[in-house]
Amino acid sequence: MADKYLGEPVGKLGFGYMRLPKKGEEFDLETINRMVDAFLSAGMTYFDTAWVYQGSEEAMRKTLVERHPRGTYTIATKLPVRMAAAPEDLIRFFNTSLERLGTDYIDFYLLHGLDAKLNEKAESLGAWELVQRLKAEGRVRHYGFSFHGKPEDLEEILAKHPDAEFVQLQINYLDWDSKDVQSRRLYEIARSHNKPVTIMEPIKGGMLASETSAIAPVLKAVHPDTSVASWALRFAMNLDGLIAVLSGMGRLEQMQDNLRTVQHLKPFSDAEVQAVGDAAELLRSSPRIPCTGCRYCVEGCPSKINIPMMMNLYSDYLVYKTTANVDHVYEIFTNNGAKAKDCVACRSCEEHCPQKIEISGTIAKLSALLD
Ligand code: SF4
Ligand code: SF4
Repeated sequence: MADKYLGEPVGKLGFGYMRLPKKGEEFDLETINRMVDAFLSAGMTYFDTAWVYQGSEEAMRKTLVERHPRGTYTIATKLPVRMAAAPEDLIRFFNTSLERLGTDYIDFYLLHGLDAKLNEKAESLGAWELVQRLKAEGRVRHYGFSFHGKPEDLEEILAKHPDAEFVQLQINYLDWDSKDVQSRRLYEIARSHNKPVTIMEPIKGGMLASETSAIAPVLKAVHPDTSVASWALRFAMNLDGLIAVLSGMGRLEQMQDNLRTVQHLKPFSDAEVQAVGDAAELLRSSPRIPCTGCRYCVEGCPSKINIPMMMNLYSDYLVYKTTANVDHVYEIFTNNGAKAKDCVACRSCEEHCPQKIEISGTIAKLSALLD
């Protein structure tokens, strides 16, 4: 493994400011301060936020930038191309990020969440030219993009934009060979273009961390005393070509566990590879609610509930035995729409469901978990 990529030390855990601890509706700044201090004391330096993570850039200013010398850590934030309506919005977003963060430069600046279509928009708005200019002016030290799309689209973007210095990819042992995400192919494409990688979702938003999930006994049979989460982190950290592996840590204990994993990092043995493969297979074959997403149920719902989304989330809960990530996605999707508690149990949806799913009962269970 190289010692540095883009002049930065590698093999680092990144502190993702996406799932920060809260006290009521507000960020729990005291706890975040303690987490920041523990993280820096352990020799970690990479902090990740985004324009669209509400309040997160400001929280990073208060807990990191105003409390530690600027040269002792690196900040990554992201340009929300999706939200831009005109070229001038882009520089406005960048300046807003600087202001919220209380800094005059960004170490790692990413075009946020590109796929083929969003890259077309980025190109037409001049986003690539903007990040080149910001780098030339020293206001951005490195630029790249985070990616949520198909392998062939990643190939195309990297071929068209060889100046991108790094790529951020969703990689974890469950998505590694999945049909949807195809982490392995994405990673191989990025590396074939000689791009270093930052990894997001190594623990799948916390879904690969549940100590009560079906995979826990499989993993504990090999290492009774290590956490379920540590396996997922090790899988990601053991890849070559990494700038950082980001984890959106919401509790000090999670951070301490992750730091232990990173500080005692070892490659997987054959038995460990087998255990992770078995765990992934177990999760893939776990029964889900048989919703096909046909949406026949949606139109007649008096409460305008996004029923397929709720079936999917409850399936995730059943498989992973945790509300981690499920609660986060639920919050995003129901922020301006109907919640599970709005179901009036009229069961009109069930008359239209070809899969004969007990929709109202399932929604009541989801409501008990999340509302
Ligand atoms: S049972 Fe609930 S989800 Fe189904 S149609 Fe009635 S209100 Fe909507
Ligand atoms: S009708 Fe049934 S299968 Fe189709 S989206 Fe609704 S719940 Fe899912």
